[in-house]
Amino acid sequence: MKNISVIGAGTMGNGIAHVFAQNGFTVSLIDVNANQLEKALATISKNLDRQIAKSLLTEEDKKKTLSQLSTYSDITAGVQNADLIVEAATENIELKLKIFKQLDEAAPTKTILASNTSSISITKIAAVTKRPESVIGMHFMNPVPVMKLVEIINGYATKKEVTENIVALSIELGKIPCVVNDYPGFIANRILMPMINEAIYSLYEGVAGVEEIDTVMKLGMAHPMGPLQLADFIGLDVCLSILNVLHAGFGNPKYAACPLLVNMVTAGKTGIKTGEGFYAYSAVNKDLIVSNRFKK
Ligand code: NAD
Repeated sequence: MKNISVIGAGTMGNGIAHVFAQNGFTVSLIDVNANQLEKALATISKNLDRQIAKSLLTEEDKKKTLSQLSTYSDITAGVQNADLIVEAATENIELKLKIFKQLDEAAPTKTILASNTSSISITKIAAVTKRPESVIGMHFMNPVPVMKLVEIINGYATKKEVTENIVALSIELGKIPCVVNDYPGFIANRILMPMINEAIYSLYEGVAGVEEIDTVMKLGMAHPMGPLQLADFIGLDVCLSILNVLHAGFGNPKYAACPLLVNMVTAGKTGIKTGEGFYAYSAVNKDLIVSNRFKK
């Protein structure tokens, strides 16, 4: 594999494009929103600078990485030469089904179609294409350049050779792949999201404040980040979508999203990407907490 197309240039898409480009792949980054493409290139450049500051990369590596990247606002144009497409568009099932139909028509028949979805059924996505055996989940973790895990999800029809290809490719990217089967939330989010939801319920019911909840989980369970800060980092809209998929998929009320989470998403307080979630963030350094929004 040489040519990779990445659909969606948001939080995950820019990280995925970064990692492929840094490892010598030719990357076409595609987004319907031209602003997002510009922002993504700026973020990649800033993140490469961080790697340089840590002596992980040189200025020369940065130049080479940026030269591997091109951007497109049209899917058809951006996938013509793709060996692999990694879809990282908004977590919305109708949108993903529409995109995969489009990709199936526009991409060469040999192209593997992967989704970075956090929770949507790979089998369902594969079923709208004429190549379900070549559709797979390639679930990177946030931030992609830093996190080692790639959760690889086999759809019902995914061919063994496709899985083997994606496992080998993940290793080539310096990642550690872990293969799982296609059930709601896979493994990562089936376990993570109920924990985040329970943390939000604890806040909603007044059991403790934001900082207390995060501190208990950091110091008590050795989590590097508390669940509320992590939810802000992931995006509260993304968390809500995943909980809705778990709830619908298992039909079990234990996955019902906390009303506070629903309210915050409705109000547009979706975490770091909007500057406000459980915490408020600095406008200059996006992930720097300036205050706890729930402090009385
Ligand atoms: P995001 O909202 O930051 O970015 C989504 C991008 O998709 C936006 O730039 C949007 O303009 C673009 N988009 C929407 N429709 C499109 C279309 N038709 N064609 C091309 N681009 C389109 O979302 P995100 O957090 O990067 O999440 C992307 C995917 O990755 C989701 O499936 C999510 O579940 C998954 N994911 C997210 C995280 C996380 O921590 N945020 C972690 C792992 C996986």
